[in-house]
Amino acid sequence: MSAGGPAVRRLADWDREQLLSLADEFGSPLYVTDLQRVAENCQRLRDAFPEAHISYAVKAHTGQAVLETVREAGLDAECASAGELVRAFDAGFEGNRVRYTAVNPPSADLDIVVSYWEDHPNLTITVGAEDTIDRLRERGFDGRLCLRANPGVGAGHHEKVRTGAHAKFGIPIDRVPDIAERVRDEVDLVGVHAHAGSGISGDDLSAHRELVRRMGDLARSIPGLEFVDVGGGFGVPYHEDEPPLDLGAVADATREALGETEADLAIEPGRYVVADAGVLLSEVNTVKDVPETTVVGTDAGMTTLLRPAMYDAYHAVSNLSRPDAGVVSTIIAGPVCETSDVLADDRPLARPERGDLLAFGNAGAYGYEMASTYNSRPRPAEVVLDDDGPRVARRAETIEDITTLERTASEHIPN
Ligand SMILES: *Cc1c(COP(=O)(O)O)cnc(C)c1O
Repeated sequence: MSAGGPAVRRLADWDREQLLSLADEFGSPLYVTDLQRVAENCQRLRDAFPEAHISYAVKAHTGQAVLETVREAGLDAECASAGELVRAFDAGFEGNRVRYTAVNPPSADLDIVVSYWEDHPNLTITVGAEDTIDRLRERGFDGRLCLRANPGVGAGHHEKVRTGAHAKFGIPIDRVPDIAERVRDEVDLVGVHAHAGSGISGDDLSAHRELVRRMGDLARSIPGLEFVDVGGGFGVPYHEDEPPLDLGAVADATREALGETEADLAIEPGRYVVADAGVLLSEVNTVKDVPETTVVGTDAGMTTLLRPAMYDAYHAVSNLSRPDAGVVSTIIAGPVCETSDVLADDRPLARPERGDLLAFGNAGAYGYEMASTYNSRPRPAEVVLDDDGPRVARRAETIEDITTLERTASEHIPN
């Protein structure tokens, strides 16, 4: 097996006995992340895009262990907030490998990012609005700047992740050359950027091609750029029967659509790096037969894994405790009093009993990251697997963690 490993890791490829024993030892719900798989995904991207700058879109999974693995695997860090930027530096990324992409950035974020820039003048800031440049200049910033274009092309698995054509993101592409001209003397203009959205699949390559073509034209119209970043959104097969993305084909299409540019190609995948490196384990707490289906209640829900509620996303599920039981149609529902708190609907599953352990696949991207404490439900622990075996990378939150903010708050009320 090459260092890049197989093109996809399915839920069924995980070691069932190992997952069962992890839940035994560390409790449920539990996020499990395999760092070896993170490294393989980075390597496959590097193999497919050997000439490109590759940044990992940190927001898909910000765990320190993941960030360190990505850094060692040679990818840079693309950060969407000051918090993510702090985490990237904490994980040892050098300034020249850190990119901050400002989306309507709060002032506090700009304050923090500019103060990091003072110590790490090689970091790059990407802006999607002209007035963000003014706000950076007011703070004394004259460093490496990249302009985010709105290319007028979106792509993705759900309307909520198609960012490419949404007015919220980026500067309308035909205005970018003028702005580039204007800011040239004030900052170090190094790149242009666009991100079409998330979930580029084999079917969606035409939108990706169109975006890249427009970005190639843009890059050719602005002399002296270091890179042209065509975004992330590399899809992963959430359905068991979906083929993996043909990275080689995406790379070929990207190069062809970009054409000759003085600027180097840059990409910034998030999901692709971590999705199939993670599973979510959850215990069955209730089994209820109703006329139309079997309702399987789990200790994980929309607060643990938001994607099904937010995007109608599909995650593969298996019953680790009872792989050979007869299959029934189920609805898998969490413990939150919301109709949308359903992790899988109309799903065939080896008939579970109370106490069984279920596994949800492709939970490594936007899993823990989107978890919340709604219903005062603490977020679960995360265990990472590496050469030394399993270790707790983030302990489980406790109710005490949640209530402590209120208890400490009173001390700060001025009188
Ligand atoms: C979210 C995001 C990405 C990564 O998207 P994935 O679908 O996780 O690959 C890349 N670039 C920007 C600007 C983003 O906001």
